[in-house]
Amino acid sequence: MFDVQSVRAAFPILAREVHGQPLVYFDNAATSQKPQRVLDAIAHYYTEINANVHRGVHTLSGEATDAYEGARARIGQWFGVTDPGEIILLRGATEGLNLVAQVLASQLTAGDEVLVGETEHHANIVPWQQLAATKGVIVTKIPVDADGMLSLTAAKALVRQGKTKVIAIGHVSNAIGAVNDMPGFIQLAHDIGAYSVVDGAQAAPHLRVNVPALGADFYAVSAHKMCGPTGIGVLFGRRELLETLPPWQGGGDMIDRVSFSGTTYNVLPWKFEAGTPNIADAIGFAAALDYLESIDFDGAMEHEAQIHAALIEAMRARPQIQILGHPSHWVSVCSFNVVGAHPTDVGTLLDQLGFAIRTGHHCAMPTMEHFGLSGTARASLAFYNTHDEVDRFMDALDRVIRMLA
Ligand code: PLP
Repeated sequence: MFDVQSVRAAFPILAREVHGQPLVYFDNAATSQKPQRVLDAIAHYYTEINANVHRGVHTLSGEATDAYEGARARIGQWFGVTDPGEIILLRGATEGLNLVAQVLASQLTAGDEVLVGETEHHANIVPWQQLAATKGVIVTKIPVDADGMLSLTAAKALVRQGKTKVIAIGHVSNAIGAVNDMPGFIQLAHDIGAYSVVDGAQAAPHLRVNVPALGADFYAVSAHKMCGPTGIGVLFGRRELLETLPPWQGGGDMIDRVSFSGTTYNVLPWKFEAGTPNIADAIGFAAALDYLESIDFDGAMEHEAQIHAALIEAMRARPQIQILGHPSHWVSVCSFNVVGAHPTDVGTLLDQLGFAIRTGHHCAMPTMEHFGLSGTARASLAFYNTHDEVDRFMDALDRVIRMLA
């Protein structure tokens, strides 16, 4: 049974005050807070185990290797992936998407097309634009509809067999919170023989994602948005693709043999993990997933959906507020503007009252451009937020609206 009060007690930071007010943290789409269990796992690693992985014959190195590879297995298990070769541990979703774009460059030629969702985070736009500059590929946007969902119908009209080589889509848009039709987009990619690349950074914190069941070729996730540490994430890739693609960065761990007459590469997943990995935070990521399992993740998501629905309803009841999008499948986020007020002023005044929200373009400038906005205020909820916090937020927002009138 999900119990929000006992869950909150596991997050030390939720007890702090900001400007003399109890903190209400509604900036979860930017990064989530971390439970004590994650902090303990990281501290335990550094106080008891710390050593470099894979190369040592001594006890600590063996323990560190076991803990790191154990974390990989745990992370894979959460996402339904059992082959460790398909679980590449990286810095986060940004690094995962850059890796994919750069290694897929070997498969693309000038004039090939990459379809990218219009509502993508910059992390799923700019790496493809960089390929346009270096390889001459054409980056085309899949338009967003009025509700904030990427249009599968439009994508079907855009694809060109033999020319469209990649479809890169965000599972959930960070500026709107729309859950896009991933099975539809992935199927479309496969129907035309294109690679499907999914940015799962905003989906994984809110949905049970089974990567093999979705069938994407590549799926990128960040730990820090799902109660794990910053600086660690995972790129899932299908083995048969990863085997044939060239390595990304060069250095230690990713090699088999190095000689000035030629170098051979390690097997998966280490072929894509050059250098000393982020051992402590991989362990912290696994601890975060253990934590999410322990609190009844499905119950937590039900609670989160209820408070999100309450927030949207309260926002809609206020004529001074305009909400960005109203997708049919919507998680966590409420992006909004107070009519006649700048989002930065709204966010700054709310901060004075103890409420942490985000303002600006949310690393999704094309989304803002599409809707004719310079930015929005964005409240994004997590399962540890409460109905009471939503009520207090709306009271505070009413005050801010009066102050800015
Ligand atoms: N993709 C989306 C949809 C995001 O919301 C974010 C972070 O805000 C990223 C990618 C970048 O992830 P990371 O912080 O792991 O680099």
